[in-house]
Amino acid sequence: MTSHSSGPLAGKVALVTGASSGIGEATAAALAQAGAKVAVAARRTDRLKALADRIGAAGGEVLVIEADVTHDADIKTMIDRTAAQWGQLDILVNNAGQMLLSPLAEARAQDLRHMVDLNLTALMEITRQALPHLKAAKGHIVNVSSVAGRVANPGSSGYAATKFGVVGFSEAVRREVYADKVRVTLIEPGLVLTELGDHIPNAGMKAGLEKRKQAMEGLESEDIAAAILYAVSQHPRVNVNEILIRPTDQER
Ligand code: NDP
Repeated sequence: MTSHSSGPLAGKVALVTGASSGIGEATAAALAQAGAKVAVAARRTDRLKALADRIGAAGGEVLVIEADVTHDADIKTMIDRTAAQWGQLDILVNNAGQMLLSPLAEARAQDLRHMVDLNLTALMEITRQALPHLKAAKGHIVNVSSVAGRVANPGSSGYAATKFGVVGFSEAVRREVYADKVRVTLIEPGLVLTELGDHIPNAGMKAGLEKRKQAMEGLESEDIAAAILYAVSQHPRVNVNEILIRPTDQER
């Protein structure tokens, strides 16, 4: 096992949103294991504290931040606290998101609005507020989109709209900041076995996801964390722009 102080990310500071479960939790652990100091943000602080205990016990440095990223004030606090704690921000992982699947005709207006607020508007605002720190650090932005940002399926119109939005946003930002040596990586996972499906409001869509999970071997959160770690550990001349990563069993 690599010691934290000599890992590939030693001296780096990372902020991971949605770190209380799934992909964000695994990513925070992987970045810490690679030597980064990691700020972990989400609403469920009990889960964040349990993660922080594990990272701390393994010798890593971690900062727990309670944040609802749909609130601009929480975004500001999250970034200010990270920068105040360690004096810099090198790696931003925009991971927090929800997938409130439903055929549009049965969708609730508040779910469509919430997915835009969380998956897209919050991600853009976090990136905007973090940009001065990332430019100063010649840092790295990692945006978690989805296969649903590349393939639009029935029942996912609202979710796909937000994830396609993340794809467009990421590419435009990459072209705005590459000259500042800030790198942008878009991560597009297929089916990952996490709590994401727990919040699906539509019974038919929820059952459909369960069926897909039974029918294939989904990815583990650690598989996506490994892809993110790969991207952010490359030499500064290497800008891994996009990683589309499906379970072997997933067709589309
Ligand atoms: P989880 O449900 O396990 O994780 C979602 C995370 O987002 C949680 O940590 C949750 O924390 C956080 N979150 C939700 N709402 C808010 C909020 N308002 N403010 C701050 N944090 C919030 O699912 P995944 O790990 O699967 O999802 C992570 C990302 O990966 C999402 O963007 C998702 O769209 C994407 N993705 C997932 C795939 C999958 O198959 N699982 C496939 C492709 C992409 P808390 O509730 O404590 O606030």
